Amino acid sequence: MDRKKRDVYWHEPSITVEDRWKSNNHKSCILWFTGLSASGKSTLANALSNQLHMMGVKSYILDGDNIRHGLNRDLGFSPKDRKENIRRIGEVAKLFVDAGLIIMTAFISPYKEDRKKVRELVEVGQFIEIFVKCPLSECERRDPKGIYKKARAGEIKAYTGISAPYEEPSDSEIVLETDRKSVKECVRIILHYLIDNGYIQSTSRLYKVPHEVT
Ligand code: ADP
Repeated sequence: MDRKKRDVYWHEPSITVEDRWKSNNHKSCILWFTGLSASGKSTLANALSNQLHMMGVKSYILDGDNIRHGLNRDLGFSPKDRKENIRRIGEVAKLFVDAGLIIMTAFISPYKEDRKKVRELVEVGQFIEIFVKCPLSECERRDPKGIYKKARAGEIKAYTGISAPYEEPSDSEIVLETDRKSVKECVRIILHYLIDNGYIQSTSRLYKVPHEVT
């Protein structure tokens, strides 16, 4: 073993994740949004984050574009780089879980194997996959950033759904069909999942599920 590796020690934290859950009054987990570009991952993560914030639940969003501007600015879109992109995001998300937050990730994450690897990084129940399901035709119709248009014109290489694969999840904890359900309905489904499975509480003063979710 080289000297560098030998001198790296794992520090066991004296405050455990359970201690953090107790003081936060909610559990932590990864909400892993996966789906085609423009399926609605960022929109839903942001709407949910606003709602959780109002309920006093600590959360944070790791968003595709933002991460590629910083932490992963050295990575491109080859299968190898996409793999590394997701691996790093998984490790960062794991730290957030340890810090006691509900961490939402909004990345296409097209490969089943990569999503599985992140699931295996954390404890059972700490990885909740949310398949943001929307037909390619509808994503192309939305095309909020005009990227599909460029991909169809051949200006962008290896674009997911057009010239690169998207491997649909088959066993996601939550599936949201965003061409059929409104943002409000989708957020409500996620909130109910979190309450029904004991991640957050609905009984306390702070955790009432509102009838109207914006
Ligand atoms: P992604 O993060 O998956 O690339 P975005 O959230 O950036 O997608 O864009 C999704 C677009 O679809 C937004 O313009 C949003 O307003 C629209 N949209 C329409 N219906 C929904 C829905 N039910 N859920 C999420 N987004 C929706």
